[in-house]
Amino acid sequence: MGRLVMKFGGTSVADIDRIRNVARHVEREVKAGNHVAVVVSAMAGTTNQLIEWCRQAAAVHDAREYDAVVATGEQITAGLLAIVLQDMGIPARSWAGWQIPVETDGVHGSARMTNINGDGLIKRMEQGQVAVITGFQGIAPGGRVSTLGRGGSDTSAVAVAAAISAACDIYTDVDGVYTADPRIVSKAQKLDRISYEEMLEQASLGAKVLQTRSVELAMVYKVPLQVRSSFEPPDLPSQNKPDGTGPGTIVCDEEQIVEQHVVSGIAYSRDEAKVSIRHVKDKPGISAAIFGPLAENDISVDMIVQNVSSDGAFADITFTLARKDLRKAIEVLSAVKDKVGYSELAHSADVAKVSVVGIGMRSHAGVAARMFAALADKGINIQAITTSEIKVSVLIDEAYTELAVRALHQAYGLDKT
Ligand code: ADP
Ligand code: ASP
Ligand code: MG
Repeated sequence: MGRLVMKFGGTSVADIDRIRNVARHVEREVKAGNHVAVVVSAMAGTTNQLIEWCRQAAAVHDAREYDAVVATGEQITAGLLAIVLQDMGIPARSWAGWQIPVETDGVHGSARMTNINGDGLIKRMEQGQVAVITGFQGIAPGGRVSTLGRGGSDTSAVAVAAAISAACDIYTDVDGVYTADPRIVSKAQKLDRISYEEMLEQASLGAKVLQTRSVELAMVYKVPLQVRSSFEPPDLPSQNKPDGTGPGTIVCDEEQIVEQHVVSGIAYSRDEAKVSIRHVKDKPGISAAIFGPLAENDISVDMIVQNVSSDGAFADITFTLARKDLRKAIEVLSAVKDKVGYSELAHSADVAKVSVVGIGMRSHAGVAARMFAALADKGINIQAITTSEIKVSVLIDEAYTELAVRALHQAYGLDKT
């Protein structure tokens, strides 16, 4: 008998009818003989509302109280789904993260899970009870509720699956992982399989279909992971195909993927900002004087570009960072102006990062060149570039994000015909 963790995102539990629909998906798996645990998100929009209330209460607020507020969204859906399941005659019980317990570190607001004791869960599952677990949260060392950062229910689900040696199905509002966000590229194609590594890059480069950390955990603990739709009729029997793929997208080791594309997807992120520090002396120690204080303030920097003047005496340094960190970065850099000795500090939040991802890049040349040509063809200027073994990212004007994603999707032959 298989163990299965089923995770349902915000749109899948947006109202009572959708929760009933989710319950029927659970019922199907229980009737098929599986031992099931469910991880739920808050109803769509709820977490945003809770965060906004914290902000209205005080622009700067205690992270422990933020967690106390935002963790409630998932508690509502867990209780409601347990009620609906019980009403259908399926034994079910809701569990908040702290009751399992899902232990985390003490970084309130973006905590990391440190341990999950799955024994109690396994015992209840073996007694035929469905455990409905709140996603996105756990208990910090001080005994207070902690939350895992936006999109964290995916990570809760994978972590629970790892703790009880289960497979994990992530149910969402699209039927799998596509070659690009299907909401902006109508010609995007659903992938039957994607490697953990490519999915990890996609997620960290902006494809929010899975939280980055959930993919990391799945990769490390070899959790069989599938992304599929909760909007498909719940009563269909197993839709597995002869090649072992299911109704959604399987995230797996690269050896399990027969047909490899050079580029498997295009990702984008609008969560970017750019800072330029103009006219600093081109001498040892300047980068350390700039990036040291940013690191000390927990500000992560992504792309870095340096232009040196023709006489070699001065440089302009441009870098990118998460948009949420921009204000703090400007404060930090203003405080070290004299030490760094720059003439001007400029910044912009009207930028986006567009990336092409594919493990085939390791063995194929010309991927970046094709990207630059496709963007040039649309008159899109590249402000910064970074590469890794399996991705190329560029920074562009935010207004061209969708145009760039679509142009690249076509340029790499990913458009559905
Ligand atoms: P949930 O609330 O179920 O966690 P999310 O909104 O977090 O759902 O993630 C699903 C969304 O991810 C989709 O609606 C889609 O717009 C977006 N998305 C971005 N990139 C991709 C991609 N490559 N494949 C599929 N979905 C993607
Ligand atoms: N409800 C949380 C959020 O909106 C966690 C999640 O949905 O994964 O970020
Ligand atoms: Mg999500």
